Amino acid sequence: MSLTFIRRPLGLQFGGMDVGQLADRAGRTPFFAYDRSAIDARIRELRSLLPCGIHLHYSIKSNPMPAVVHYLATRVDGFDVASAQEMALALDAGTTPAAIGFAGPGKSHDDLRRAIASGVNVHVESQTQLRLVTALGWELGVPPSVAIRVNPDFQIGHSGMRMGGGAAPFGVDVDQVPALLRELEAREVGLAGFHIFWGSQCLHATTVIEAQRQSVELIFRLASTLPQPLRFVNLGGGFGIPYFPGETPLDVKAVCKAMRDWLPRLCERLPETTPILELGRYLVGEAGIYVCRVIDLKVSRGKTFVITDGGMHHHLAASGNFGQVLRRNFPVIIGNRPEGVTRERCHVVGCLCTPLDRLADDIELPEVHIGDFVVVKQSGAYGRSASPLRFLSHPEPVEMLV
Ligand SMILES: *Cc1c(COP(=O)(O)O)cnc(C)c1O
Repeated sequence: MSLTFIRRPLGLQFGGMDVGQLADRAGRTPFFAYDRSAIDARIRELRSLLPCGIHLHYSIKSNPMPAVVHYLATRVDGFDVASAQEMALALDAGTTPAAIGFAGPGKSHDDLRRAIASGVNVHVESQTQLRLVTALGWELGVPPSVAIRVNPDFQIGHSGMRMGGGAAPFGVDVDQVPALLRELEAREVGLAGFHIFWGSQCLHATTVIEAQRQSVELIFRLASTLPQPLRFVNLGGGFGIPYFPGETPLDVKAVCKAMRDWLPRLCERLPETTPILELGRYLVGEAGIYVCRVIDLKVSRGKTFVITDGGMHHHLAASGNFGQVLRRNFPVIIGNRPEGVTRERCHVVGCLCTPLDRLADDIELPEVHIGDFVVVKQSGAYGRSASPLRFLSHPEPVEMLV
């Protein structure tokens, strides 16, 4: 019996490969790998639960890798973009401009010009933006598609968390919306939609359900005075994914079930308006890993440090410096070893000369060796593009869709 070409899967299998094969394909470490079949499965499952009539948008900022955006283009109903570059990515992927929403509190004159010329929906976030958009529309001879991003006035409390109802640079306060509507009318520009974004990374179904209910009520209030029907209402997303020990996945079934309560009312009152759900990390976050290599092991005053060729410059979120108040470990494993029985406590760090560069504090891993692969899971969103790649001038990580 010949066993020559049979590789025994030890450790992690990802996208049909083990971590060594992934590294061979990447050509070097560190790298991010995204599993297309996992993205596809996530969207299929969500679609099977969502009531029909709801459009699903992908928020490009969560993972703007062009291959990922192209892959998603045929699987979602539209894209939400937050810069002219993201808008170009969405257009390059073949998305119809009417299915692209461009939000952001600081859109420049040139950004807005490009957006109007392209025919994408501009989500205005201030009176200044609104005036500029209408003026540019006249200048270009193109009627701009304008939506108003609203800073919601409702508050949703859960476990001490408070969302909405506060001062924010994003969106227009609810009480300022009527003045903007009057300006649009005076400038003979119609309103295409409202965009309400109430929060992000929420794991509690009850909170998402309540936020969606309140968003729909807010839409009813705002839409009651409009001269013509809205083309769409973007109700935000907020679906979270579990990153840390003790976190449980969002009960999406419960959220989708609750949607069946308000969706018929929405369709009845605003029959020409498409409701949109915009999701980023929920679609791609769990489909990605970050892989770096152990390049040194050392013991300092009784503590074992696993030193890798990766770090916070590639994956700021995993290092705990992406706005986290309390540093917690992302799920970290040694990708080329079975979980095993012999475990040792160690600290996994990156290659930067700063104590901020930590990938896992005080975790238990199987016996680690130089050359092993450290794998950070839940890394498909807010990884490479949300990291200070130039900090300390190390090479950038490879990205691949497998
Ligand atoms: C960032 C962002 C999203 C995506 O958030 P996720 O937590 O990745 O789903 C959606 N909408 C707006 C307006 C955003 O700014």
